[in-house]
Amino acid sequence: MTDKNTILPSKEIFEEKLYDIFEQNSLDGYLDKRKAELFYRLAITLTETNKSLNLTAVTDADGVILKHFADSLIAVDELPEGARVIDVGCGGGFPTFPLAIVRPDLKITALDSTEKKINFVSRTAKELGLDNITPISDRAEALGRGEMRESFDVATARAVAALPVLTELCMPFVRVGGSFVAMKALRADEELADTLSKSLFEKLGGESLPATRSVTLLGGDEPMTRTVITVKKIKTTPPAYPRNYSQIAKSAKKRAK
Ligand code: SAM
Repeated sequence: MTDKNTILPSKEIFEEKLYDIFEQNSLDGYLDKRKAELFYRLAITLTETNKSLNLTAVTDADGVILKHFADSLIAVDELPEGARVIDVGCGGGFPTFPLAIVRPDLKITALDSTEKKINFVSRTAKELGLDNITPISDRAEALGRGEMRESFDVATARAVAALPVLTELCMPFVRVGGSFVAMKALRADEELADTLSKSLFEKLGGESLPATRSVTLLGGDEPMTRTVITVKKIKTTPPAYPRNYSQIAKSAKKRAK
């Protein structure tokens, strides 16, 4: 059984670590006194709630700061001023919360199919006064066929599904001219090759070739590699997409064979 108990250090020590790790990743420009305090309060709420609700396996201060907070911000510079963002599969609020804290100009819809997680996001957003977050509990493939279709400037997703699946879940939300930003840790090259081989970006209205950027996260025992994949939407998504989840997953499985 995993020990979900955690003891965060004092606010002063936590904030020292926060500034240190953010500085190593050139993110410290996004911090000020109020934002640092919001990150501390978020870390407390996250680790406390985690005792009863499984939100994360990472519960120590350094881990939370690096693997949730800094990691959630690897694409922060790619989001246009005032963008309407949908974070697909936000889980316990990542990248939603870090983005909402450092970029109050963004209007973020936090979407997850697990109601308990969305209740946590909703409660925490209220407690922290983050009124730029709108939480919604639904499945992406259902919501993407409704009135929110093509109504966002950016769709983000971190650690939700393999890229071919994610592309179909996210692209329908993006308006023409906007973009889908996938934040990938493992197997990015393989998933990208798989998606490209089936021309999935184009089929869903995107440019055929996405922009990819490799990011090295510093501050842990070893540097960690991340990949940001940005797909620009150039035409509307055909009405047949997104399909229901079993069809999406079935196609992905076929491709993997
Ligand atoms: N993005 C968060 C993060 O990086 O910590 C959560 C990652 S968690 C591994 C994946 C989340 O995606 C889960 O909370 C799950 O409920 C959600 N999810 C998976 N498929 C989904 C779908 N089709 N529609 C909405 N949410 C989905």
